[in-house]
Amino acid sequence: MHHIARSFVPAPVRHFLPRTLKRVVIVGGGPTGLFCADRLRHHFEVTVVDSKQFFEFTPSVLRAVVDPSHLSRITFDYRDVLERELGVEFVLGDASNVATNAGGSARQGTVRVAGHEGAGKLHFDYLIVAVGVGNGLWKPRLRGDPVDAALTNAAPAPHRDSSPPELTLDDRRQTLRDLHERIIGSRGVVVVGAGLVGVELAAELVHFFPQLKVTLFDGAADVLPQLGEGARGYARNWLRLHNVKLRLGAPFRPSLVKEDQVVLTCVGTRTRSAQLFNDDAVLKRKGQIRVNRHMQVLRRADGASGSSINSTTDAFTASDPCLEEDDRPYEMETMGNGRVFAIGDCAAVDGVPTAQMIFHGEEMAAVAVANIEANEDVASPFSLANAPPREMESEQPFLCCTSLGPHDGMFSTQTELVSTGSLAALQKQMLEVTKMGALRGELLSSLLWHPVH
Ligand SMILES: Cc1cc2nc3c(=O)[nH]c(=O)nc-3n(C[C@H](O)[C@H](O)[C@H](O)COP(=O)(O)OP(=O)(O)OC[C@H]3O[C@@H](n4cnc5c(N)ncnc54)[C@H](O)[C@@H]3O)c2cc1C
Repeated sequence: MHHIARSFVPAPVRHFLPRTLKRVVIVGGGPTGLFCADRLRHHFEVTVVDSKQFFEFTPSVLRAVVDPSHLSRITFDYRDVLERELGVEFVLGDASNVATNAGGSARQGTVRVAGHEGAGKLHFDYLIVAVGVGNGLWKPRLRGDPVDAALTNAAPAPHRDSSPPELTLDDRRQTLRDLHERIIGSRGVVVVGAGLVGVELAAELVHFFPQLKVTLFDGAADVLPQLGEGARGYARNWLRLHNVKLRLGAPFRPSLVKEDQVVLTCVGTRTRSAQLFNDDAVLKRKGQIRVNRHMQVLRRADGASGSSINSTTDAFTASDPCLEEDDRPYEMETMGNGRVFAIGDCAAVDGVPTAQMIFHGEEMAAVAVANIEANEDVASPFSLANAPPREMESEQPFLCCTSLGPHDGMFSTQTELVSTGSLAALQKQMLEVTKMGALRGELLSSLLWHPVH
């Protein structure tokens, strides 16, 4: 019951209270990593490791590109929130080389963390990997990430040599300001990819810069191929009405770009998991980490290494189930006695198709948290009894809020268009405000989101 007593103590001094001695290390402070940190901090010594100093709410970064002042609303310094508000330790550095111990050892394993002050190993009883995927410009660039063409010149080569990482909020602000200036100074913008990111970006651009010529390219015959006809039709009409030129149904060719146009690539993601495990078999061919329905990382039972990785996938596409016959013709077992978990965009769940979106990532996070709590026989701070272990259900709801500029939008499932117009736009804004509140540990927003998973 000590979690109930803890909740009466002010957050800044809560970490001085006694806890179980078990340590959970969470690699990656994105929405899914922070979800786990917030839930597990009541019973465990929790450490979050991230390569950069700040959190950024990715769904709102497109607004920050057209309106750089928006960045302050969708970011915070990890130390301010994790250490000062939530009583969670924060370590700045790049994680790699997860190693698990044989039985009998004091802790379950170690992960190497290299920061600017040197490298060392963090010991863990449980490890949660939540490193996400790289998205070019749309997520802060980490060490070794390729720089997007828009920051160099108009030539649309998507993956150039690595450029300085965006470790601090000032670095990030500068990148987005540079991009903003390039857009203002250009004759037009070419958006490549008419999925959710490309459509939202095109809409932001024409709303904030009405004189700008915006062209949207995609090899698919229509915009938003992952949504139903109602949503596709609404978005298509909106874009045409606002003078976005649609070039659909033919592959994008760099030769189509004029000299003073800016190209913004909204397709493709890159794995960030490759350095984390010595064993390739932990990763699927596209670089996602194989997990079972309990979110436990799987590795080859015979200890051999797996196949080579193709590190680029399409953003926002459903991941394949983990167990394709040809992909895994050997026995698998859980890594580190089932105490190493992976969640969010970086994970592919055994037999469960998921999309790279926050709702699915949080569901994975909730399952991992429930299983760690069940293994230690502790209860969530909001429930009176200990819960049994959980596994991810094979069908996950696909609910999507797509903005079309600040005053219009769509709320849809994969097949149905539920609402449009200012109501859907307001819904998207409320999502941003309440999600940011919950991630900062604010009580009202946390209470609002807690029952969802
Ligand atoms: C432009 C855009 C718009 C989007 N809009 C929506 C939307 O409207 N709704 C929605 O649901 N989803 C949206 N998404 C998807 C959503 O952002 C992702 O699903 C979500 O961010 C995934 O969360 P995550 O915690 O798995 O990973 P991430 O958010 O990617 O976080 C991973 C964290 O791990 C850190 N990290 C990576 N490697 C290491 C390492 N080796 N060591 C230490 N730290 C490391 C990174 O710095 C990062 O902080 C959008 C994505 C993009 C790109």
